[in-house]
Amino acid sequence: MAGPVVTLSFDNGPDPEATPLVLEVLRRHGILSTFFVIGSKLADPARRRLAERAHAEGHWIGNHTFTHSTPLGERQDAGHAAAEIGATQALIGRLAHPDLLFRPVGGGGRLGPHLLSAEARDHLAAQRHSVVLWSAVPGDWRDPDGWPDIALAQCLAQQRPLLVLHDLPGGAMRHLDGFLHRLAELGASFRQEFPESALPMQRGVATAGLDAYVMPTPAEGRIAWTAA
Ligand SMILES: [Zn+2]
Repeated sequence: MAGPVVTLSFDNGPDPEATPLVLEVLRRHGILSTFFVIGSKLADPARRRLAERAHAEGHWIGNHTFTHSTPLGERQDAGHAAAEIGATQALIGRLAHPDLLFRPVGGGGRLGPHLLSAEARDHLAAQRHSVVLWSAVPGDWRDPDGWPDIALAQCLAQQRPLLVLHDLPGGAMRHLDGFLHRLAELGASFRQEFPESALPMQRGVATAGLDAYVMPTPAEGRIAWTAA
């Protein structure tokens, strides 16, 4: 039986310790992935060079907010979309994938309306971004040695997993090579393209499913209640 078709992504970098290791392992396995970078890190020239290297090696670069702090659906300060998404996209510049990939901050990998505010949604649509979610979060940051077993189980439970790992220091990525070998032995193959189901907005066009990831504004909440 054919194994899962796995898409890998690496969030929260670039990092001088972890990103080169991840790039080296991916190169040896012949796997292309996406790095969802944090804008405040990209402002550091040494870290930016790592994103440039990833891009030059065929990986895609996506936007993962500027500060990676409160999930955007929980933000109420006007202007947060431009400050978090717009400023990061400006720093990504020519490294951007043509689909302008954006991954919201989940706060521990949770999916839900806390991911996006109405302001963020409107900014993403106006700038023709694509929103990239996920389907497997093994928690490598909290379990640097145990995550591969969790990730294997999560990947084998799906046909088309989109896995979130982190190019962060802490040692978890020392297990990436072994994890990829184990996945391959179990019949998995790898694709850089994202599964459709993980893309609730593509190039600014929202699917019907996007609403599940947008916090209703008080006004919208009233309208929905009245209509019901
Ligand atoms: Zn993150």
